[in-house]
Amino acid sequence: MQFPYAAAIIIMLSIFTVLLINVSVNFRRSIKSDIQRGIRNKEFYAYYQPIVNSKNGHWLGAELLVRWLHPKHGVISPAEFIHTAESTGLINTITLQLLERAAYEKTQIQAENNDLYISINVTASMIINSRYVTELICIISKYPSLQHNVVFEFTERETFSPTELVELKLGMQRLREVGIKWALDDFGTGYAGLSTLQSLRFDILKIDRTFVASSVTDAVTHSILDNIAEMGHTLHCTMVAEGVETAEQAEYVDDLGIEASQGYFYAKPMPFDDYLSGICKPASASHSEAVETNTTTAHQQAIK
Ligand code: C2E
Ligand code: CA
Ligand code: CA
Repeated sequence: MQFPYAAAIIIMLSIFTVLLINVSVNFRRSIKSDIQRGIRNKEFYAYYQPIVNSKNGHWLGAELLVRWLHPKHGVISPAEFIHTAESTGLINTITLQLLERAAYEKTQIQAENNDLYISINVTASMIINSRYVTELICIISKYPSLQHNVVFEFTERETFSPTELVELKLGMQRLREVGIKWALDDFGTGYAGLSTLQSLRFDILKIDRTFVASSVTDAVTHSILDNIAEMGHTLHCTMVAEGVETAEQAEYVDDLGIEASQGYFYAKPMPFDDYLSGICKPASASHSEAVETNTTTAHQQAIK
């Protein structure tokens, strides 16, 4: 008796599922073509978020975070498009455009302070691909401003086959030869083992913000952060704590010997012009009470 009802429900559910898949495929297709249009019109640019000396809050450099100035929707954050950009490989073209724009911006930064570095997000897949490495090297060779104090960062979330790992090491080495330093992003959240990390020879480890966020309230995370900091020292890397939001976290990070910090406590990501005008200003009162150090920091030494 209930069979016709059950059959009708199953048919309706199937139609609904097919429709949903269709909507999602069309949505992804339309974002993809919108990104392609955005690339053609050079709508992607970077916000700058200062990376500071954990002891005194002085700016050491900045991470470049992509934004999309969309003609209809205004400024769009990476959360809205980065997944599609990465899965379609379009992120590689965006990165090349950002790097070229960064060359001009870095020249202006250098005119104010020659010691500040810029840190650019790349994907490991881009560095595995020798064609893209060649394109990156071409841009770097064209602009003297990109030939020092430039860091590339990628996350350890992507997994690699042994062959890809060899290609990745090769790509990193080729870029090292034109002056690029390497940072491992979101350290602690990925799958890379100690031996992989050692073989990739990162200069900087960026400790993921989840460990920083709960480090002062939760005893387990507290000790995880201790261990991560310890591991960073063992790997002879300088460290950046990401997502520092409170004075308490800032103090704790400094106590662990983590040389550099990034987070809303110090500064949010901002348009380039704001970053440039901020370079000339002294560190804000909230974090300027700590020890003054005018000498070059270990973190700056590592990047040079
Ligand atoms: P990420 O590389 O880990 O960058 C840090 C993110 O954390 C940024 O988000 C930044 O705005 C945010 N953040 C910084 N300080 C704090 C803090 O104190 N508290 C909190 N809650 N968040 C903080 P954003 O700009 O939305 O970027 C999100 C992600 O998008 C980045 O995470 C990165 O994975 C990706 N992304 C951004 N720009 C690029 C790019 O040019 N290329 C690639 N491949 N990925 C990018
Ligand atoms: Ca990053
Ligand atoms: Ca990160």
